[in-house]
Amino acid sequence: MRVAIFGTGYVGLVTGVCLAEIGHEITCIDINCEKIASLQGGKSPIYEPGLDSLLQRNMQAGRLKFTTDAQRGIVHSDLIFIAVGTPALPSGEADLQYVMAAAQTIAASMNGYALVVNKSTVPVGTGHKIQRLISEVLQQRGVDFGFDFASNPEFLKQGDAISDFMKADRIIVGAERTVVFERMQELYRPLDVPIIEMSVCSAELSKYAANAFLATKISFINEIARLAERVGADVGQVRDGIGSDSRINPYFLKAGCGYGGSCFPKDVKALSWMYRQHGLGDGLFDAVDSINSRQKQLLTDWLRGYFGRLSGLTIALWGLAFKPGTDDMREAPSRVVMETLWREGARVQAYDPVAMGEAKRIYGERTELRLCPSKEDALQGADALVVVTEWPDFVQPDWQLVKTKLRHPVVFDGRNLYDGRQLRDTGFDYFGVGRPCQQVKMR
Ligand code: NAD
Repeated sequence: MRVAIFGTGYVGLVTGVCLAEIGHEITCIDINCEKIASLQGGKSPIYEPGLDSLLQRNMQAGRLKFTTDAQRGIVHSDLIFIAVGTPALPSGEADLQYVMAAAQTIAASMNGYALVVNKSTVPVGTGHKIQRLISEVLQQRGVDFGFDFASNPEFLKQGDAISDFMKADRIIVGAERTVVFERMQELYRPLDVPIIEMSVCSAELSKYAANAFLATKISFINEIARLAERVGADVGQVRDGIGSDSRINPYFLKAGCGYGGSCFPKDVKALSWMYRQHGLGDGLFDAVDSINSRQKQLLTDWLRGYFGRLSGLTIALWGLAFKPGTDDMREAPSRVVMETLWREGARVQAYDPVAMGEAKRIYGERTELRLCPSKEDALQGADALVVVTEWPDFVQPDWQLVKTKLRHPVVFDGRNLYDGRQLRDTGFDYFGVGRPCQQVKMR
């Protein structure tokens, strides 16, 4: 099939590359000229394992093209995806300006019947708004070739995006006409993944429900961790105890310094906003969000408690990305940690295996941030080590070396990577999330 995709972010680009890989003819369209130039040169602007080689292979095979020219991009396309950003507005509401602008461009440029498919995460009812907008524009243009619409929310995880797309647990398609379900089955047939068919509204809500459920699991275990610390229990042991129950399972049940990324925070906020819009008041999802905000402050609360202040400290920070396998720092706990430290007069020496360029792009050159070439370099002369991202590279450091480089042998482990008892035996003070005996070592 000939497919056009609006947006070459994590979702649009991965969708384009993977659909090309299974034999479709893809044109990816973006308004960001730099991104398109980089992609035309065979270089992905985002870090995603396996993406560059798949990108280059499909470009060489002539199945994958990139352009900023929307009109040229969608000419003769059977199917047009919208995969642009839907960031949160200050109210929590999803900002639909990019989705509606893409829909407007599609309607203004279509030159024949097409199936328009929305992949962006949007509030329930947006699909109908998109359809109304396209109908109006087509009417104004005086053309009558018509269009169909489907909602096809995306569930990929950054860091595993390619395999999530190729071997998805399920594909959700929301539509109102049998012919649309048939077209979507044809598109995805080579993947051999079960397709769940439903209404457009149900598909839109399924995406928020999935993300909110996972975010709730994380905030749930972080809430249990808070009590565990106080009562002398270990949240890791509690996780083993409850996660072995097949009704619960251990996934998304690791206590830590909070979830980040472009999806969970904004989607939980957007869901809360929908509740308020429909007169359903504040509820579970406000609590999930505020537990997460509090959790992102945990590491600096510990540092303040331990040193009695943050001003004048130099902190070694291991990890900048919101999770391993990506360079994405949107809503990353590392940002809250760094910005709190800076606000209170501390400096940061940071290292991340892939997100250093992203940190430089976000924060530029500043005296209170030194981006270090290695995790060991970040430790040199620092007052404490703070770990925020569970990169495999951080799991088994040379603790003797760590000790010689730090000014104080103290580790604040925001991801519970280490064995606290072993570290204490090696002469470190150690703080982990939801682990007992934290308060004993305050200076
Ligand atoms: P992103 O911000 O990484 O990329 C969006 C891209 O769209 C940008 O390159 C931007 O320049 C482009 N764009 C904006 N307006 C455009 C227009 N009118 N025409 C063409 N391009 C335009 O976003 P993302 O992370 O890929 O997310 C896209 C959507 O998918 C969001 O709604 C998000 O919630 C959802 N989603 C994201 C993930 C994820 O892991 N990132 C997973 C599932 C769903």
